[in-house]
Amino acid sequence: MIVNSIRWRLQIWHGLLLVIVLCGFGLTAYRVAYDAQWRRIDRELTQKVESIFRPPNQQFRPPPRPNGDPQDFRRAFRDLLQERILAEVNQPNGTYVVYWPGDGPQQSRSPGSPGEVPRPEKPEPLRRGPGPPGFYGERSRADLREVFVYLPGGDCLLAGRSVAPDLAFLQRLLLTLVAAGCGVLALGLAGGWWLASRAIQPIEAISETAVRIAAGDLSQRIGVEETESELGRLAAVLNSTFARLEASFTHQARFTSDASHELRTPISVILTQTQSALARERPASEYREALEACQRAAQRMRRLTESLLELSRMDAGEEVVKRDRFDMSRVARDSVELVRPLAEARGIQIICDLPTVECAGNSERIGQVALNLLTNAVHFNREGGEVRIATHTENGSACLAVRDTGEGIPSTDVPHIFERFYRVDKSRSRIQGRTGLGLAICKAVVDAHGGSIDVATEPGIGSTFTVKLPRG
Ligand code: ADP
Repeated sequence: MIVNSIRWRLQIWHGLLLVIVLCGFGLTAYRVAYDAQWRRIDRELTQKVESIFRPPNQQFRPPPRPNGDPQDFRRAFRDLLQERILAEVNQPNGTYVVYWPGDGPQQSRSPGSPGEVPRPEKPEPLRRGPGPPGFYGERSRADLREVFVYLPGGDCLLAGRSVAPDLAFLQRLLLTLVAAGCGVLALGLAGGWWLASRAIQPIEAISETAVRIAAGDLSQRIGVEETESELGRLAAVLNSTFARLEASFTHQARFTSDASHELRTPISVILTQTQSALARERPASEYREALEACQRAAQRMRRLTESLLELSRMDAGEEVVKRDRFDMSRVARDSVELVRPLAEARGIQIICDLPTVECAGNSERIGQVALNLLTNAVHFNREGGEVRIATHTENGSACLAVRDTGEGIPSTDVPHIFERFYRVDKSRSRIQGRTGLGLAICKAVVDAHGGSIDVATEPGIGSTFTVKLPRG
């Protein structure tokens, strides 16, 4: 459903919010303008009423009280008001004034006033006005607005005018506000859609890439331009995860194919030997030879499977590193004794410089590392060469260095020699029954101890393998 899309949800929320804000703002603006307009009209009419009592620049002065007769005084007052009302000609906005003396019928009106002006009711509640003593009120009739004042004697004076132009102005204002609101809403929606599209673009890129990766293309990566945004950072993290996944899959695939390849050779040997032995009757010596070849192939397979098992156990983290304290020089010396017969057979001298170096870890596993390195140093050495094994401490680490005087390792091969099944001289090594897993196992053991293993090599001079382990 379309409303389930994040972009549409964002857009709907954004649009609703915008409509609410714009309506609130527009209604408030219209209300303020409307009230101000009516207040202005009422003030104008109130001033008109006042000006009848107190013409501009004159003080309100009641007419002289002739001989103290109240009736005469009242009559003179009314005459004065009438005189002023009749003088109200050509007023701006067509303002008119009407006067009702006491409770009597309508008495006088200014020229230009509408035909029928009913006398207003006395205002309830009574409200004192700003001008002369009396009670003020206002009313609206059709498009007329009128303000009136009731004097203490019951006289009523009213000023009014047509508000048609004001109503037309307010209508225009309303239309302008609605048009502006629609414009802002359209702009806001377009901007919101653009922003939402931009914000969502990395998510779409992520899901498209994930689909392609799920379909089997592990080389796919998310194309992100902004790496600083939250989604950009997520895409970068996912990209590096995909890269690691791809590397791990490639590694796994290569490992499986290498392992099967390595196992195929001894299996072929066994099959060939048994087939030819069974093909016809043979003398006992030939059967013996065939069986010996099968035994060698089986031993090779056993070595291979044991190494693979060891590596897979370490990969799975099942090889728990014991944290015993032991003397690295003692472990090295034991390995030297194991390899000495092989070295003597090739006329290679082993020189030991093994002062006591304490370190923590699994002494058996470290012994296996030392034996692997010593075996390689003897095996890849020249006849009558030399192997030096030394222990020392460096920057708080326990170090074991094995140096030989062999051919060394070509610089192009150095970065790969710790990889599984990697052999510099592939065909020769395989014939000699070497698995190409020795250094990979060394590295896995050292890594599990939190240490490091490096090689420094000079072609034609020899190689030095150095293992560093934490001492604590
Ligand atoms: P392998 O069982 O074949 O010896 P390793 O993992 O121990 O496997 O060694 C990998 C490769 O590294 C070897 O095939 C060899 O080419 C090279 N190598 C290892 N040690 C030495 C050394 N001391 N001198 C020269 N080359 C070596």
